[in-house]
Amino acid sequence: MIALIEKQTGLKAILKFFKKLIASARNEVEPDRTQVRIYLRSEHNISRSQISENALKVLYRLQKEGFAAYLVGGCVRDLLLGREPKDFDVVTNADPEQIKKIFRNCRLIGRRFRLAHVHFGREVIEVATFRGAGEEQNDKQVLNKEGRLLRDNVYGTIEEDVWRRDFTVNALYYNIKDFSVVDYVGGMADHKAATLRLIGDPETRFREDPVRMLRAVRFAVKLGFKLHPDCEKSMHEAAELLSSIPSARLYDETLKLFLSGYALQTFEMLRHYGLFQVLFPATENCLSVEEDGFPRLLLIRALENSDNRIAEGKTVTAYFLLAAFLWEPVQMRAKEKMVRGTVEFMAYQDAANEVISRQIKSTALPRHITMAMREVWSLQPKFNARTGSKPSRLLTHPRFRAGYDFLLLRAETGGADPELAQWWAKYQDANENEQRKMTQPPRKVQGGKSGRKRNYRGNVKDSATGKEA
Ligand code: ATP
Ligand code: MG
Repeated sequence: MIALIEKQTGLKAILKFFKKLIASARNEVEPDRTQVRIYLRSEHNISRSQISENALKVLYRLQKEGFAAYLVGGCVRDLLLGREPKDFDVVTNADPEQIKKIFRNCRLIGRRFRLAHVHFGREVIEVATFRGAGEEQNDKQVLNKEGRLLRDNVYGTIEEDVWRRDFTVNALYYNIKDFSVVDYVGGMADHKAATLRLIGDPETRFREDPVRMLRAVRFAVKLGFKLHPDCEKSMHEAAELLSSIPSARLYDETLKLFLSGYALQTFEMLRHYGLFQVLFPATENCLSVEEDGFPRLLLIRALENSDNRIAEGKTVTAYFLLAAFLWEPVQMRAKEKMVRGTVEFMAYQDAANEVISRQIKSTALPRHITMAMREVWSLQPKFNARTGSKPSRLLTHPRFRAGYDFLLLRAETGGADPELAQWWAKYQDANENEQRKMTQPPRKVQGGKSGRKRNYRGNVKDSATGKEA
């Protein structure tokens, strides 16, 4: 027996040796994730010239007062990639009251876990005290019955702080004391291998906070990183857990996901992991019964347009994209109502109400957003009126531009007559005289082909009766 065990242990050691050999031949030495590794200034590419002056001020000031101070999270990750970070997060062993005493321009926020916001004009540097309650200290953590983390509010040391972070590449600390990067979890190796790996057991970590799945998608797309196979596997299994997250938090995450310039890829990846259906159940429903590619095309075009605008440095509005997400469900509901005899205007209004009130159960769209979405939708049938004073009144509508852009989107993707979109393009550029000519009622043509036109949902409509032929 002992001989057998020895034999097996020997085999294991040989296997391990060969694995290491292969890894080192591929230049991917597996780091020891239980040992802290310090990368000296000469061993990484983060230079102070890339760091915001205000973040540096905060770091130096904390250090001067005798505290430890590090940059951590997304900013270190992005600096290593040579990208400009979105914001700079600082962690320290000073507690919030101590931080407040050091910085006059400081406000403490958060009730559960207090954070300091140090204000420099429009720039805010977030300063957090190291958080405790790592996996070994479950007594400080409060989990619900599904294993979701409800309370996580104890100050700790840097060695504890690291374990509550999500991905290894988000858990690198840039130390202002000697400009080194401190790595407790093999984050540098993952960074080099462009891999998103959860710290600890993926299933537990997703269970603790299912929003980490959305973060995984966001970072994978934004950084061009791949998900570690273990992380990927758990994600397929844990997607459903996302529905337990408060809808307000999901709304915030949704905006980050879709307004970051990679909306199309994000959409595809969310669908792949079954996460999109939690965020937009009605849209997912329509996508799965899609006919002739109409709904998919409109949505995809909206996502592409939005990414292109961001790439060109233009702004994108959340309500426009959200209106595109929910347009197909609204249309489907409206059509059902029209079949039952509701007039078009009312059918669309009722459908919009129903779709929105269901949607806010998943992602809590704020009222000003849903109001704007409704306006964009309700403008759509109004574009059909091209005679008399209606067109000129429509031009003065505060949401005309968004409504018109939405019409273009529909026209480009087979949901509206391209000639109608062209007419509105021409009408906007025309002078008053031309506009008057354009809006004169046409002379009636009786019967024949000219009385028929396509209604861009694949059916032929008789323009005189409005009935489908
Ligand atoms: P971004 O570029 O979007 O700001 P980020 O990684 O900085 O990316 P933040 O939301 O600013 O993301 O969070 C800062 C850091 O806090 C993260 O890098 C991570 O270490 C930690 N963190 C944030 N959210 C979570 C979470 N849900 N679970 C665990 N750690 C988290
Ligand atoms: Mg950040």
